[in-house]
Amino acid sequence: MNIGFVGLGIMGKPMAKNLLKAGYSLVVYDVVAAPVAELVKAGATAGTSPKDVASKSELIITMLPNSPHVKTAVLGENGVIEGAKLGSIVVDMSSIAPLASRELYEALAKKGIEMIDAPVSGGEPKAIDGTLSVMVGGKQAVFDKVKDVLSKMAGSVVLCGDIGAGNVTKLANQMIVALNIAAMSEAFVLATKAGVDPEKVFNAIKGGLAGSTVLNAKAPMVLEGNYKPGFRIELHIKDLQNALDTAHGTGTPVPLTSAVMEFMQAMKVDGKAGEDHGGLIQFYEKLAGIKVRKGGLK
Ligand code: NAD
Repeated sequence: MNIGFVGLGIMGKPMAKNLLKAGYSLVVYDVVAAPVAELVKAGATAGTSPKDVASKSELIITMLPNSPHVKTAVLGENGVIEGAKLGSIVVDMSSIAPLASRELYEALAKKGIEMIDAPVSGGEPKAIDGTLSVMVGGKQAVFDKVKDVLSKMAGSVVLCGDIGAGNVTKLANQMIVALNIAAMSEAFVLATKAGVDPEKVFNAIKGGLAGSTVLNAKAPMVLEGNYKPGFRIELHIKDLQNALDTAHGTGTPVPLTSAVMEFMQAMKVDGKAGEDHGGLIQFYEKLAGIKVRKGGLK
């Protein structure tokens, strides 16, 4: 099967590499040249536009920042819709607004092109390992056709419902991750100020009820003051904005998500939008006037 891949950033590049390793032939495109060159070196062919990529593929994967980027790449000038063959399938793996997924689906359906939304969780390390969690929205028959391809990049692939359901699930995921990071930050700042080494706190609680994948991934980073992304605060702001829009559109109050969104906004104002979302701890550090580090306060 020929696969097109549009968007070779932190996530898309290793995901595309895993498809190459699995033996698929790949046509790739990104607005930035460097990752395209890297993929060509690994065995892919360079496309000249999303349209070009689509014209050479039966299945087209997009992995782009947000709804407007996906709309441009799929529906815009020289977009996927101009090149895709009848019966081909678009798999959007970006995390975007569920409403945007449905709009893309409708536009593509008019041209006889199928689409599913299939956002992922797991971050760069799992994108590299090929163990992402994929949450899918779309028709069962289309899901059945693409599941094998998705499983080459994933540890789990779950069909959550109709088109848009993948992104609703991803919003739920992002709310839980954001709130976990905020809770970890608040607790580590308290432990440090109360005179206990936060690394000892982490080691003592990680196997108990408070332990989590988020804690295991982020605590070692923040205890060293390492905020290199990973997942940038600006992308988490994007996801929380999509969560708030969806919440307000469906009449769902989300008070904790609203609060953490404001903490993230404060980080952005502080010039830290490009840092890893674990860097949210700096918001709490500033409030308390300390730094959280291994060993605690010296
Ligand atoms: P990124 O910014 O590193 O990569 C996005 C890529 O898209 C860039 O290479 C950019 O040049 C390219 N691009 C933008 N507009 C384009 C266009 N019109 N045509 C072609 N290429 C275009 O972002 P990322 O971290 O790889 O994230 C991608 C998506 O995956 C986002 O929706 C994000 O929320 C989601 N996600 C990210 C992570 C993570 O840890 N980074 C984890 C899970 C999900």
